[in-house]
Amino acid sequence: MKQIESVDCFACGKKQLSKDEVGLNKKLIGREVKQFYCLTCFAEYLDIATEVLLAKIEDYKEQGCVLF
Ligand SMILES: [Zn+2]
Repeated sequence: MKQIESVDCFACGKKQLSKDEVGLNKKLIGREVKQFYCLTCFAEYLDIATEVLLAKIEDYKEQGCVLF
């Protein structure tokens, strides 16, 4: 499996986004996504609560999504 390189948040500059954060960006924006958001900025961008995003991550994990 290809090593995921360190990704920073496009909006706030947070370093080394987690695999969950990167996976969520890919899942919701698309795999070709170039700019990644941390959980906090992504929630702001989508105008939903961070708790909702965290719940989504858990849902995707349960579904066995390969991005997580
Ligand atoms: Zn951020």
